[in-house]
Amino acid sequence: MEGITQIKNKISLINYTTIKVGGCSDYFSEPSSIEEFSYLIKWANSNKFECLILGAGSNTLIKNIDLKRLTICTRSMKKIHIDDETNIIFAQCGALLPKLSTLLAKNSFKGGEWAIGIPGTIGGAIYMNAGAGKCCISDNLISVKVIDPMTLSIFELQKNELKFNYRFSSFQENKLIILEAKFYFKQKGSKAAIMDCTQNILAQRKRLQPYHLPSFGSVFKNPANAFAGKLIEESGLKGESIGGAEVSSMHANFIVNKSSATSQDIFDLIVLIQKKVLQKHEILLHPEVRMIGF
Ligand SMILES: Cc1cc2nc3c(=O)[nH]c(=O)nc-3n(C[C@H](O)[C@H](O)[C@H](O)COP(=O)(O)OP(=O)(O)OC[C@H]3O[C@@H](n4cnc5c(N)ncnc54)[C@H](O)[C@@H]3O)c2cc1C
Repeated sequence: MEGITQIKNKISLINYTTIKVGGCSDYFSEPSSIEEFSYLIKWANSNKFECLILGAGSNTLIKNIDLKRLTICTRSMKKIHIDDETNIIFAQCGALLPKLSTLLAKNSFKGGEWAIGIPGTIGGAIYMNAGAGKCCISDNLISVKVIDPMTLSIFELQKNELKFNYRFSSFQENKLIILEAKFYFKQKGSKAAIMDCTQNILAQRKRLQPYHLPSFGSVFKNPANAFAGKLIEESGLKGESIGGAEVSSMHANFIVNKSSATSQDIFDLIVLIQKKVLQKHEILLHPEVRMIGF
């Protein structure tokens, strides 16, 4: 690997997920440039390893097994800036959502307040089309630079060449890897008011959600015309636990890692919630969380 990113062996992924569970990846690397990223994919292809792309691991449940994969964690590709002339924001895939939110607020742009406190990366957020309330990451997206892992070609896709929906993007189907993105936020406002609004959203999140414990945010997508958290609460599941995994008593759509939960505890709790909500409400909840190895 001379002169290029290091590939480590047998790395536990526990500290690469916000819920603090995960198996061991046979190979692991954190590229800091597109060249390194491309090199790693080529290396995986020539050694016939599948790649697992991890951003901040804040929406991912990884089974406690040995993963015969190359895990590529994007967190070192974290540059983000606003172009002074065009006001276009350039973000590398590993830049964190709160960074985007703060950058916008400091430059008096409205529209990024919702992203404060969401511990994911730009790449993970585009893949998930992350959002809050009526806003989501695709609202202000212009284009995405990607690499095709099969051909190693790098190209830019405009937003109109991609599909986005509630917690859905084309990337969940097309296998392309997000390297960078461009955004445009046109509405300006008072910096103090935007900063205030951002801080209020963060305070509200901390008041209503279990930020003090490891989790991966909302576990299930909201079904049409209903809230998953409300359905789970009405099914009597707040505080329900399996092993070290517990349905949060603050917010029923969060599972928290109370005490050394295993990924199996969490998976079993997800299945139990689905079963109980189906019995009570005749609605099958669909996980938003991405599962690896199950
Ligand atoms: C406390 C807390 C609060 C949260 N609140 C919200 C919320 O309000 N709204 C919301 O939508 N989500 C929320 N989440 C969930 C999560 O933060 C978001 O879904 C986030 O966008 C995921 O980003 P990530 O980098 O952590 O993705 P990861 O978990 O690392 O990855 C998620 C998926 O994206 C893929 N992926 C990651 N990076 C790339 C890339 N560069 N190219 C291609 N694929 C990639 C991964 O392979 C995986 O399939 C919350 C999570 C926590 C822990």
